[in-house]
Amino acid sequence: MTQAAAIELDAQAEVTDGFHLLIDALKLNDITTIYNVPGIPITDLGRYAQAQGMRVISFRHEQHAGYAASVAGFLTKKPGVCMTVSAPGFMNGLTALANATTNCWPMILISGSSEREIVDLAQGDYEEMDQLAMARPFCKAAYRLTYAEDIGIAVARAIRSAVSGRPGGVYLDIPGAMLGQTMEAAKGAQSLVKVIDPAPRSTPAPDAIARAIGVMKEAKRPLIVIGKGAAYDQSDDTVRELVEKSGYPFLPMSMAKGLLPDTHPQCASAARSLVLKESDVVIMLGARINWLLSHGKGKQWGEPGGKRFIQIDIDAEEMDSNVEIAAPLVGDVGSCARALIDAMDNEGIAPPKDWLDLVHSKAEANMEKMAARLQNNNNPMDYHAALGVLKQVITEQPDTILVNEGANTLDLARSIINVHKPRHRIDVGTWGVMGIGMGAAIAASIETGKRVLAVEGDSAFGFCGMEVETICRYKLPVCVVVFNNNGIYRGDGENWGGGGDPATTSFVPDARYDKMMEAFGGVGAWVTTPDELRRAVNEALESGKPTLVNAAIDPAAGKESGNIGNLNPQSVVAQKLYPQARK
Ligand code: ADP
Ligand code: MG
Repeated sequence: MTQAAAIELDAQAEVTDGFHLLIDALKLNDITTIYNVPGIPITDLGRYAQAQGMRVISFRHEQHAGYAASVAGFLTKKPGVCMTVSAPGFMNGLTALANATTNCWPMILISGSSEREIVDLAQGDYEEMDQLAMARPFCKAAYRLTYAEDIGIAVARAIRSAVSGRPGGVYLDIPGAMLGQTMEAAKGAQSLVKVIDPAPRSTPAPDAIARAIGVMKEAKRPLIVIGKGAAYDQSDDTVRELVEKSGYPFLPMSMAKGLLPDTHPQCASAARSLVLKESDVVIMLGARINWLLSHGKGKQWGEPGGKRFIQIDIDAEEMDSNVEIAAPLVGDVGSCARALIDAMDNEGIAPPKDWLDLVHSKAEANMEKMAARLQNNNNPMDYHAALGVLKQVITEQPDTILVNEGANTLDLARSIINVHKPRHRIDVGTWGVMGIGMGAAIAASIETGKRVLAVEGDSAFGFCGMEVETICRYKLPVCVVVFNNNGIYRGDGENWGGGGDPATTSFVPDARYDKMMEAFGGVGAWVTTPDELRRAVNEALESGKPTLVNAAIDPAAGKESGNIGNLNPQSVVAQKLYPQARK
C-alpha cells in the first residue's frame, strides 16, 4: 500500500456511517446474531455485520428467518433480530413478527425501506410501501429512523420495547439512504446507548401476596398450570421450589414441558382431564387462559363457578381475560413465585392426600394404557409406534431440543414425548402456526449449540422445507423427521366431486422428502418400521449431520384436525349433498 493510500484509510476510519452504527449498537447490547435474507437495501449491512464478528444466518425466505429470530428471543430473553428487504421481504417477515407478539417473545424486525419522500408522495418507488404503518398492528412498537445519529436511541428503544413488560415484536424501519449517512466516528460512538436493566423485575405488593395465600389455604384440590411465560422467565429453580414446596400437582402447557421434567412425581399431564375438571384452586404461572385451555369454561373445567384462580403474569391486563381471577399477582414469574414461597411458611399449605392419590392413580392408569400402544408393530407404522421410538430417543438423550409441528403429529407428540429440561421443546405456540419447524430448529441449534430433533407433519414441513438448504449450508446438527402420511390430517382423502383432481387434503403419495436433504449434501433416510426409524434417528443425532428421516405413516391413522376437530365449522347442507360427510 502506498503511503498516500494508508493515510487515506486512516482518515476514513475516523468516520462512521449508518451501517456501522447499527451494527455497533446491536453489539453494544450483546446482540450477536442476525437472522437474515439479503437484498436491496440491506445486502451490505449483512456483509458488514459478518465482517464485524456478528453471526449472520441467511435464510431462503423471510418468514423462517423471522420465526428463527422469535425463537431465539424465547430461548435467550434477548430480542432475536430478523433483517429483511423492503416491501415484499418485509411482508414475508411480518407473519413472524405478529407470531412473536402473539407468543409474547421478544423480537426486532429490522427492515430496509425505500425512500420516504417518494413513498410518502406515492410516486412509485422501487418496492414502495408505507412499512411503518403496515407493521404497527402486528407488534408492540414500531420506530423509523431518519438520521444515523439516532440509531443508538432507536436500537435502545427497540430492545426495551421488545423485552420489558410482556415481551413481543418490535419493528425498526431503516430507509436505505439512512444507512449511508456518515458521522464523525467519535461522535457516533457517543451516540450509542447501552440498555441498563432492560426488563426490570417486579414483585407484587404484600396485600396481593396475602390474598393469594388466603386462596391457597382454602384449596382442597389445587393445581398449578405452568405456561411458556414461565419457561421464558428462566427462573427454573424458583418455579421448581414453588411446585415442590406447595406439593401441588402441576400441568405444563406444551412449551413449559421440561421446566420440571415430565417424569416428576407431581406432573399431572397424564391426568389432564381429571385435574382441569376437578381442581378447585388453580395457579396460572405464566400461562394465559385462552383457547388452548377452553377459555377456562365449559365441561372441560367442571361445574361453573367451581374454581378460583390465582394468576401470575407480567401483564396486568391479562387478568380476567376469560374468567374472574380471585388473586392476581402481577410481576415476573421468578419474583412472584419467590414472594409466594416466602409467604407460605407456617400457613399449613399442603394438598389433601386423597386428591394427590386420585391424580396419581389416574395418571398411572392412563400411562399404562398408552405404553401398550406405543409398542405396537402395526404395518403400516402408526403415529403411536413412531412416537414411542422418539420418546425413547429423547429419554436417552434429554439434551436434544425437540421441535414439533403438524396436526396429529403435534397433538400426539406433545402428550407422548416426555421433555426433561427447560426450554427443550419448541412448537406451534399460541397461534398453532404451521411452518415454524425449520426456523425454530435452526435458531435452537444456533442459540444453544445443541442437537435438534424436529418432528414434523408432512404438511407442516411443506411450509418451510426449503430451509433444509440453510440447515445444510450452516452444517447444523438438526435431524428432521417427517411423519409422511401422504396428506393433511390423513392421506386417504377423496375428491368428493368425483373428478380427476386429487383430494384437497392429499399430497403426492410416498413423496421422497429425504431426497431434498440429500440434494443439499445432507443425509436422507426413508423408513417404514419403528426399528428403522430408531436406527436412522440415533445415527443422525450421533453424527450431528443434517439429516431428514422420511417416516412412512399409515395414511388412515390420523384424525381430521388432530385434537381440535371441534373447531371446524359444521355445514348442515353438506349432510344432504355428500354421502362422505355422513360417515
Ligand atoms: P402457554 O401457551 O404456555 O399457556 P401463554 O403464551 O399463553 O403460555 O402465556 C404466557 C404468559 O406469560 C403471557 O400472558 C405473558 O404475559 C406472560 N409472561 C411472559 N413473560 C413473563 C415473565 N417473565 N413473567 C411473568 N409472566 C410472563
Ligand atoms: Mg400429514
